Amino acid sequence: AKARGEGGHQRYVTGMESRAAERSRRHAELRRAVAEDQFVLHYQPVVTLPEGSMAGAEALVRWQHPDRGLLGPGEFIEAAEETGLIVPLGRWVLREAVRQAAAWRTELGEAAPRTVSVNASPRQLQDPDFAAEVAGALAEAGLPAAGLTVEITESTAVGGGATQTNLAAVREMGVRVALDDFGTGASTLSLLVDCPVDQIKLDRSFVPEPGRDAIARAVLQLAQAMDVEAVAEGVETPEQAARLTEMGYRRAQGYHFARPMPADRLSVLEPMIPGR
Ligand code: C2E
Ligand code: CA
Ligand code: CA
Ligand code: CA
Repeated sequence: AKARGEGGHQRYVTGMESRAAERSRRHAELRRAVAEDQFVLHYQPVVTLPEGSMAGAEALVRWQHPDRGLLGPGEFIEAAEETGLIVPLGRWVLREAVRQAAAWRTELGEAAPRTVSVNASPRQLQDPDFAAEVAGALAEAGLPAAGLTVEITESTAVGGGATQTNLAAVREMGVRVALDDFGTGASTLSLLVDCPVDQIKLDRSFVPEPGRDAIARAVLQLAQAMDVEAVAEGVETPEQAARLTEMGYRRAQGYHFARPMPADRLSVLEPMIPGR
């Protein structure tokens, strides 16, 4: 870059180069992480209201980075989507969550989560092999289809390609489909018309506060009218849990009940859930 003229321009070019280099280094690192299985799943219970017992669990991916420790999805999901690495990563998440769900049924019997939820990204659902992969994972683990819930957002559902076919096919098998982040731009009403789902997850920005519970009420009514299960996400306080219960919510998820945790901690959780 030295021959490219006066200093300001040269600095600019150098900055561009290092940003591009940084980006491709990150992408290479992520590619290697996928190849070397540097990921783990943590699980967050979805509980019943008012009892607070575990009804399900959501699988949330983490990257066990060799130098930087355990990284949350905020640090790598976007890059995984940009590079297409979300497809092999998502495939791993699916198989691992299904395997774990089946193992809990064997280990815990009645106390096992009845369904384990995985987040599916748009790229994954556009893949013509998605439904077959779901069927394969269930068969290999011996998990009944209802033991799996696939969480989508609007951007997933309108993703084009084989998306609609995939969603219809997995529902046909008996896999449940949940509409995540409901009420935000990511998931809107029109989607419910085009794309039937089994569960709506009220985004945590609408968890009720005193004097601010209209949306939470309206979403529950909508869910009831459509005969769809409603889950309140991001419940952090006992007051919120009580309010949701009083409104008629029967499912909730959030730090008040339990944080995401490794699979082996979830196995011993049941007696620890507050409110039982
Ligand atoms: P999400 O699907 O909406 O998942 C819920 C997020 O909220 C999780 O963050 C969870 O740890 C956090 N959370 C749970 N309870 C509370 C609470 O009471 N208060 C607050 N403030 N937060 C709470 P996490 O694990 O960092 O995941 C962030 C997002 O990354 C997820 O949002 C999901 O969109 C995405 N993600 C996670 N795992 C996967 C995956 O395997 N595949 C794909 N495609 N996306 C994933
Ligand atoms: Ca591997
Ligand atoms: Ca989710
Ligand atoms: Ca969500």
